[in-house]
Amino acid sequence: MNKTDIKSLTLSEIQAELLQAGQPKYRAIQIFHWLHRGVSCFSEMTDLSKELRYWLDEHYEIAWAVVVEKRESRDGTVKYLFQLNDGECVESVLMHYHHGYSICISTQVGCKMNCSFCATGKSGYSRDLTSSEILSQIQSAQKNQGIKISNVVLMGMGEPLDNFDNVLRFLELVSHPEGMNIGMRHISLSTCGIVNKIYELAEKKLQLTLSVSLHAPNDIIRNQTMPVNQRWNIGELLKACRYYAQKTGRRISFEYAMIHGINDMDWCARELTTRLKGMPVHVNLIPVNDVTGTGYKKSSLERQKRFVDILESGGCTATVRRTLGSDIEASCGQLRRKHEGGKGNES
Ligand code: SAH
Repeated sequence: MNKTDIKSLTLSEIQAELLQAGQPKYRAIQIFHWLHRGVSCFSEMTDLSKELRYWLDEHYEIAWAVVVEKRESRDGTVKYLFQLNDGECVESVLMHYHHGYSICISTQVGCKMNCSFCATGKSGYSRDLTSSEILSQIQSAQKNQGIKISNVVLMGMGEPLDNFDNVLRFLELVSHPEGMNIGMRHISLSTCGIVNKIYELAEKKLQLTLSVSLHAPNDIIRNQTMPVNQRWNIGELLKACRYYAQKTGRRISFEYAMIHGINDMDWCARELTTRLKGMPVHVNLIPVNDVTGTGYKKSSLERQKRFVDILESGGCTATVRRTLGSDIEASCGQLRRKHEGGKGNES
């Protein structure tokens, strides 16, 4: 018999399950507390009767993320390779900022999007993560380091909006006051631009930060680097972003990986400024990480500065993102690729 994934259930769903099985419904809150405190087996739920623990174990399983590899950077960044209950592996990156701990987590094993600069797509797509597996990455990192994480970014392996239902359920669970209680304002979701899902997300009016991986000022460049652009072009994507910003009242964050000679010329910055006019935005510039096989090179520091200047003078706020963990292959997809025997990163 297949066991039910209990950590993906909401509190009211657990209550309903207990009720239906003739178990005391009030136990649900205790179970929920244990699950979201990060226990990995029912025997740890010490304030439940032995009989109830036995019954739970018979019918349910608890998703967990076991640390199979861990790398610590000189700057305090920790990169994890986690193994899930079925043996699949995903990556997460824990970062320490002055305001606390932030974790970048995965939403899929692999990715279907195949962006030309990204290591994750190079190992293909295996499956979506369940809500509980997305949660487990946070819990396992907290346990491993003995810390409390305050910020979460869905910017690891996978495309969150391509695993929409599980990601929404994860958001509900992680922000639950009886659970980990991480508020939406402390969560960012990054997408390559699945336009129909951006509209759907806008209707939920969540207070999370939407990050859009733009990486190009026009369709000619974006078609070359991001296959998703052939389905929804920049015009359609920006229209959805405008709708999202207006519906939620939240400023959109645009990611722009600067690749030498591809998208980092002055005219690219000018074209980008024109396209983003009138929208409340923040542009995050990231010097592209070298990934074996892409041949892409980082833009120079001088180029990065120049790009910021052009964007700012055109009225877009822009910053170059501080690169953390570059000595440990912290950008996602690189460690799993290496683990699977790929050649990985050269830097
Ligand atoms: N699928 C989502 C989230 C995962 S990727 C998305 O596309 O947004 C997280 C971020 O890292 C994205 O902005 C992605 O474009 C960027 N990224 C991927 N490979 C990179 C590389 N080699 N250098 C810099 N940024 C990269």
